[in-house]
Amino acid sequence: MYQAFKSHLQAELANIEQAGLSKNERIIVSPQGALIRLSDGKEVLNFCANNYLGLSNHPGLIQAAKKALDTHGYGMSSVRFICGTQDLHKKLEATIARFFGTEDTILYAACFDANGGVFEPLLTEDDAIISDALNHASIIDGVRLCKAQRYRYANADMEDLEKQLKASQAQRFRIIATDGVFSMDGNVTPLDKIYELAEKYQALVMVDESHSAGVVGKTGHGVTERFGLRGKIEIITGTLGKAFGGAIGGFTTGKKEIIELLRQRSRPYLFSNSIPPMVAAAGIHAFELIDGSNELQDNLHKNTAYFVQRMIDAGFDIKPTESAICAVMLYDAKLSQEMASRLLEEGIYVTGFYYPVVPKGQARIRVQLSAAHTTEQLDQCITAFIKVAKALAILN
Ligand SMILES: *Cc1c(COP(=O)(O)O)cnc(C)c1O
Repeated sequence: MYQAFKSHLQAELANIEQAGLSKNERIIVSPQGALIRLSDGKEVLNFCANNYLGLSNHPGLIQAAKKALDTHGYGMSSVRFICGTQDLHKKLEATIARFFGTEDTILYAACFDANGGVFEPLLTEDDAIISDALNHASIIDGVRLCKAQRYRYANADMEDLEKQLKASQAQRFRIIATDGVFSMDGNVTPLDKIYELAEKYQALVMVDESHSAGVVGKTGHGVTERFGLRGKIEIITGTLGKAFGGAIGGFTTGKKEIIELLRQRSRPYLFSNSIPPMVAAAGIHAFELIDGSNELQDNLHKNTAYFVQRMIDAGFDIKPTESAICAVMLYDAKLSQEMASRLLEEGIYVTGFYYPVVPKGQARIRVQLSAAHTTEQLDQCITAFIKVAKALAILN
């Protein structure tokens, strides 16, 4: 039997390869950081990690994790409700709630699980989910797992959202679901307008702060800070895998009754292991670090503003951004790949994105800034971009 299946798989893989859509992994042999070493010994500047605040290899987090290994052991060998809850898990949940100004928090192994397990326990076929067209794959999957009626609105398009809200008025409850920052353009969701429409049309709001928490808002407390809506949004999901140390772990935080029902019914929580104590301890440290000082967030905002302005001055076509994501538009898929590979030769690690990850004819290189980048490193990156762009006749 496997012979036939194997031929089928080989044909599928060949199709992916021929379409130029193969994803190849580069092997890093150093810790994650602004400067990384690849398996061929080459050292490159990293501009494609979600390491927004430079915490992936932060001494404070490493120390907190090591200490927890000694005091709380390595793994939990259990889900939370059987015997997988330590004081560290409860403390992390309280810390996250404090960070976002919410009532309670529930941890998951990843934000993919948080989003996968958030809708199904709360809503039935009598209800409606109204989802931004550019939402993350995990929100899309979470919606698929739920029996609620599905509505979709064009990315950040408030006219379309209003239309969908009107269309869903017959349903018992309705919830608007959106990413805080959309990862391909770096634009922030217009949460103030979404909130107004939610009030007008009696909807709940769910926002995924994965790319925005730690980044957006004056003190990096996310889109609810940016729009003055702290404590007003019913459901926030997020990850520990980006700004907050980049290891693993996700969460849903929000209204007390919502979190309590998720603890009773959310399948990825009930049927999957607890996060390791060291991850909980380092997570607590990360949130407290960001709550306690604005240094990293200020650095990130300064770096992003500097990079974007210098790239615009150099003549690049840059998507307007309000996050630490900077999309350098090239429009041509092949060119985006050629540019990324030449930049790597110059010691700059970035990724080119093209259809189907972004719409057809919208190919780009996505640059992700970090508080860990020095001004010299930013300059090196900009200089390399200009050099390669001239060689490829993108700039003259
Ligand atoms: C990265 C990301 C996720 C997934 O987070 P993990 O914790 O890595 O599973 C979910 N939603 C959004 C918007 C993301 O950017």
